[in-house]
Parts: sequence; C-alpha cells; structure tokens
Amino acid sequence: MKKFLILSIVLFSGFAMLAACGQGEQAQAPQQQAAAPAQPEKPKTTFVTIGTGGITGVYYPTGGAIAKIVNAKKDVYGIRATVESTGGSVFNVNAVMAGDLQFGVVQSDRQYQAIKGLAEWEGNPQDDLRACFSIHPESITLVAAVDSGIQSFNDLKGKRVNIGNPGSGQRQNSIDAIEAAGMNIDSDMIAEGIKAAEAPGLLQDGRIDAFFYTVGHPSGAIKEATAGARKVRFIPITQVDTLLQQYPYYAKASIPVAQYPGAENKEDVQTFGVKATFVTSAKVPEEVVYAIVKEVFDNFDTFTKLHPAYAGLTKQNMLEGLSAPLHPGAEKYYKEAGLM
Ligand code: GLU
Repeated sequence: MKKFLILSIVLFSGFAMLAACGQGEQAQAPQQQAAAPAQPEKPKTTFVTIGTGGITGVYYPTGGAIAKIVNAKKDVYGIRATVESTGGSVFNVNAVMAGDLQFGVVQSDRQYQAIKGLAEWEGNPQDDLRACFSIHPESITLVAAVDSGIQSFNDLKGKRVNIGNPGSGQRQNSIDAIEAAGMNIDSDMIAEGIKAAEAPGLLQDGRIDAFFYTVGHPSGAIKEATAGARKVRFIPITQVDTLLQQYPYYAKASIPVAQYPGAENKEDVQTFGVKATFVTSAKVPEEVVYAIVKEVFDNFDTFTKLHPAYAGLTKQNMLEGLSAPLHPGAEKYYKEAGLM
C-alpha cells in the first residue's frame, strides 16, 4: 500500500511536470504544435486470414507457405497473414465472400461453379470472387481397405464410404465419380459426410471401408491411411470420359504411388483431377493482393520448395485454371512481371 502511494505520487508529479512543460512550449512556440512526433509512427498492420482445409491436407501447409513468405516482409508491407484450418473449398468461398476470411484455397472446379452460379451456388453467382493464382494439382483419390474386398470402383456398392463433409470441395467430386459409374450415394452405398482429416483413422479402425479425398500428393492424410496396420489400396477411377466432356474443369490425372510405399498398388493409379487455386474478394484492397502475389512469385524458388506437391509448378501454369476474374492487384503484378 505504502509502495503504491509513493508510486502514485511520483507518477502524479511526473505528469504534472510534463503538463507544465507542454504548456510552456505552447506559449513560446505555438507553430510547432503540429510538428511530427519525435518517434516515426509505425505503419499500421493489415491482418489477413487464409482459409485452408484439414491440417493433414495440402491446403493447410499451402496457406502456411504463403503466410511465411508474406510475413517475412512485414516491415515492407505491414501485412500479417495467418492461416485457418477449415472444412475446405466451399466453406472458403463462402467465408471470403462474407468477409470473414480475406483469402482462401479453393478447388478450380469450385471457383468455376461459384463465379457462374452452379452447384452450391445455383442461381446465386458469387460476383465478388476474384482469382489470384493456381497452385498444385489435386486428384480425386479413392482409398479402400484391402480386407473390404473393394478391388474396382463398382465394388463400392453396398460399402460404407466417406465422400466428404458438406463445405468441402471434394464432396461433389466424389458424387460425380459415383454417378459417372452409374451409382447413387443414397441407394447404392452408405455414404458418410465426415471431414477428410478424420477418414484415415476411421478406415484404420474398421469403421469405414473406403474414402474419397480430392487432394495434392503427397498429403499427410493419405500417408496416415497407407501407413497403418490395415492394408489399403488406391482404386482407379476410369469411367470418366463423360465427366471430362461435360465439365471443363476436370482432367485426367494419376496418383504417384511411390509417395505412399505402404499402399498395395505397384503402379501409378489412374483417376481425374482439378487444381488448387488461391482466391480473394473484390473487396480486398489492391495493394494487399499485389503484395502477396508479388512475394509468392518473386520468391518462386523458395515457395516451390516448401511442399513436394509443388514440384510441377511453373510461373506460367500458376496462371492457368482460373475462371473468376483476376483481382486487379494480381493483374498489376503479372503485367509488371511480363507474365501477361
Ligand atoms: N480439395 C479439398 C477440398 O476443398 C481440400 C484438400 C486439402 O486440404 O489439401 O475439399
């Protein structure tokens, strides 16, 4: 109590003196009042959040890689990027449009549907959605337990299969693949809507027979699924010709099995795929988007070393697979860099 009293007195007299000095100065030199403060003001920090996916996917480390590169230049741009684990592409589009997130990693097919008002956005095009760049390829990956007897796609009939949570990008890919094979998620199987991060554990515990995951390779989730005691194999998805004709965003793809030595497959597995893309909103300021795009591209070699799924990236192919208009901040950088 005594200490507190003394401190208060000292502080109070300090303030009183300061106030007196201030008044004195004011009286002597009123024109100096508006002069710059002695300490230069720090530029204010702009906080941006990047929506990703489950932590064992590739979106989460991708958000981390972008944030790391941008945050290294915090003193230049005043941008502080953080990463959020989310339910996936559809959630990210909606959160970016709502202004809850400033950036999101989103499948190229979901970007296409959102801007055109299709699928989850039927009749409700997301006009403010803007593209920044595309990233790694993702393939529709079907993992099945060997003891479930699933050897080919049509063996999914009657099985318990995770197709992905609502809010994920992958869920519609699973449905498209199942329907392309002439099956239905409600009448031909027990379809689960669980988050991709939980599927490997459920498969290993014998609670599901198979799961779909639209993901870049290698991914933590697929490593987890292929490294357990219950043996698993990738199931090829080959009945895709109609899908590829019908939808411009689907392309043939293959899963590199060398990245998953625990899987039973000996050869790369045929399937179809999309691309991961980086999106934002028209409402996010030009200088913020410009800074992020510039840092990722100017540090291309550093960036592509941050995850093995980026192995095939070139600056040029990072401008492909985008269907929303480019954000003006991204366009400004690409023109400056001679990329467009
Ligand atoms: N493509 C997945 C989705 O949007 C996410 C994949 C990942 O997190 O790497 O559902």
